[in-house]
Amino acid sequence: MCKKLLKPLQNALIEKHLCVGCTRNLATAKRIGSLSDNRYMVECKCKRRFVYDKELGTFQRATFAEEQQILTQDKPNSILFK
Ligand SMILES: [Zn+2]
Repeated sequence: MCKKLLKPLQNALIEKHLCVGCTRNLATAKRIGSLSDNRYMVECKCKRRFVYDKELGTFQRATFAEEQQILTQDKPNSILFK
């Protein structure tokens, strides 16, 4: 129920490059890693993570898989031997 109502609102915020949680401008969010040449992840001060697409010029919420990709970049050995 709540999600149905929140989704359009969150999309509207993201389109304006604002964090869906605290409405800070994502342009000022901390860049925490790259997913590819054209996509990188930022982390807002409220700990929400977003992926910026340079080609499209848009932000979107980071998926679980994308977060894992960034988290494991720092310590590559930990996934290689899982
Ligand atoms: Zn935030």
